[in-house]
Amino acid sequence: AADLPPVTEADPTAKALGYVEDASKTADAKHKAGDDCANCQFYSGGATGRGPCQLFPGKSVNAKGWCVSHTPKKA
Ligand code: SF4
Repeated sequence: AADLPPVTEADPTAKALGYVEDASKTADAKHKAGDDCANCQFYSGGATGRGPCQLFPGKSVNAKGWCVSHTPKKA
């Protein structure tokens, strides 16, 4: 999984979902403080670095990234 190519913010799906590499940089009002890929249920990577997201098949997202589809991981 660490070998997946990184999704870029220019990727059409990334643009559609408002994906950013750094959750702290989003201007999207839907972003809640503390939310990032690492605590999203669609993410299956580690707490740091990059990992897979179900919404970006074949690509990796940043653990500290974020998009509008963020859904908190179930406890
Ligand atoms: Fe990150 Fe979740 Fe959006 Fe995937 S769905 S890019 S893991 S916030």
